[in-house]
Amino acid sequence: MNCELFIEQIYELKEEEGGDSMRMSNLYMPTLREVPAEAEIPSHKLLLRAGMIRKLVSGIYSYLPLGYRVIRKIENIVREEMDNAGAQELLMSAIQPKELWEATGRWHDFGPEMFKLKDRHDREFCLGPTHEEYFTSLVKGEVKSYKQLPLNLYQIQTKYRDEKRPRFGLMRSREFIMKDAYSFDADEEGMRKSYEIMWKAYEKIFDRLKLKYKVVLGDSGAMGGNVSHEFMALSEVGEGVIAYCEHCDYAATLEKASVIYKVENDVEELPLEKVHTPGVTTIEELERFFGINASNFAKAVVYKAAGYPVIAVIPGDRELNETKLCNYLKIAEHELEMANEDLIKEITGANKGFTGPVNLKGEVRLLIDSRITKMKNLVTGANETDYHLKNVNYGRDFTGEVVDDLLLVREGDICPKCGETLKMERGIEVGNIFQLGTKYSKPLNATFLDENGIEKPFVMGCYGIGISRTMMAVVEQYHDDDGIIWPLIVAPYHVIVTVINSKNSEQMELGERIYSELMAHGVEVLLDDRNESAGVKFKDRDLIGIPIRITVGKKAGESIVEYSLRKDKEKKEVHVNEIIRLVEEEFEKAGLKF
Ligand code: ATP
Ligand code: MG
Repeated sequence: MNCELFIEQIYELKEEEGGDSMRMSNLYMPTLREVPAEAEIPSHKLLLRAGMIRKLVSGIYSYLPLGYRVIRKIENIVREEMDNAGAQELLMSAIQPKELWEATGRWHDFGPEMFKLKDRHDREFCLGPTHEEYFTSLVKGEVKSYKQLPLNLYQIQTKYRDEKRPRFGLMRSREFIMKDAYSFDADEEGMRKSYEIMWKAYEKIFDRLKLKYKVVLGDSGAMGGNVSHEFMALSEVGEGVIAYCEHCDYAATLEKASVIYKVENDVEELPLEKVHTPGVTTIEELERFFGINASNFAKAVVYKAAGYPVIAVIPGDRELNETKLCNYLKIAEHELEMANEDLIKEITGANKGFTGPVNLKGEVRLLIDSRITKMKNLVTGANETDYHLKNVNYGRDFTGEVVDDLLLVREGDICPKCGETLKMERGIEVGNIFQLGTKYSKPLNATFLDENGIEKPFVMGCYGIGISRTMMAVVEQYHDDDGIIWPLIVAPYHVIVTVINSKNSEQMELGERIYSELMAHGVEVLLDDRNESAGVKFKDRDLIGIPIRITVGKKAGESIVEYSLRKDKEKKEVHVNEIIRLVEEEFEKAGLKF
């Protein structure tokens, strides 16, 4: 082809499409008919099938044109609400030097989740999993006076975490897009105010994204600080579990939720007895053997915590909460591992399955859930292979470090706030806000002068939103068997105009006319002008989930088209002159400017 002519054509195309509308014959949208084997959950399957994302290696993905449009829309909503809340956007490097992380001890604490690398001079760096240290060091020395506070800075940037189990596509990936914000205040009260403002901004963001979500108390984990809340998009496939009360506003993550219950303890202590229990090791076998309920056992779980053996003793019918255990031991979660048979033998003198708190042989920290101290006449392992003890009582037969609560919450537990019963549901953690206090400013020596000229560390908060995970959460809440059903506000395009027979000039002309008119109104339109069968076009449009659909077919000559919405698929025939009004109505309903 003549080169000048070709360039001219491209120019024409660009001008006409203005970037915000597209002919599908030009669109890079590699849809798949088959469900990819790697995908387990609907959002992952659908985003792959719709040609919106592609995997490079485990946990590392690309965003293709349609998917990236959604990402940008989510980012812009986040941006608008962050800006409205007074935060200022900047952009930092993903690469951070080791020294910064050593100052707070997190080079070690983050453990194997951190991607580490070296430069040509053997200097060590990481690919930032988060940016607390970096932001703190950025304002250090620059913000000198209380008069410059409060300050809230944020970025939308790529984060790296070498997750133990990357899965579900963008849900738990090793490279992902996060909005992270950091607030700097002069005192605790200021920090709480900043926290409140971010909380409100997050509500606006997730409301605008049409997500059904709960705000729940979270565990502060690796970020530190005391108070944190997680924004959980409700979904059966969510990796997060929420314990909540329907009678009051209590809601907490599985890791955080307090377990409270009363123990009846007005029975007499009976004499300790050793019982021969050959091969009886599981709770079920013990229940059968002793003919009593698991709640009368004390379960002793052996761990290696930061290299040292620890035994946690809890009621036999309950599960241990490892986050609570790590918080008590002040260790990172990656430092906790189940003990192997050798270690169990070394400290108990017995095989696995016969561990108990009485007569331990080796050096070990014995942690006891407070409930155990009130329970009477328990059955426990005897620390001797094939033997258990009966009528074991705390104080008389053993002692140890009593920990208030080491238990994992479960459905039906008592609400710690109002005393009613707790329910459980699953959610996807899309956002997380933390009151950090001086956890980063103190070790990094980031200070300002207060109104009396006294040097003080900044009181900080940090606030994250998983942009790419949020896209998955939206798809989880908005899809059916045929594909995605994007809410208008994040849809890659607002309208799809399907021309049934693109070789028919009458149909094509009408399709083009509608396409141009909608574009002129600022509507983002896809024109399906491909030389494909109607069946393929319909399948694709269901799959990619464009909210408003116009089908141009046999009645094109009479200026009649079919109009439908992806969410209900109810079709109606309308005259082309009605289209603008109908689309405008949808925009109004969605709270979008037309
Ligand atoms: P999770 O508990 O799911 O591992 P987190 O609590 O470690 O997440 P934060 O440090 O709070 O994550 O990060 C802020 C936000 O970034 C999270 O609320 C989540 O939306 C997102 N996020 C975190 N890890 C990932 C990941 N591996 N893939 C995608 N998004 C992530
Ligand atoms: Mg979190």
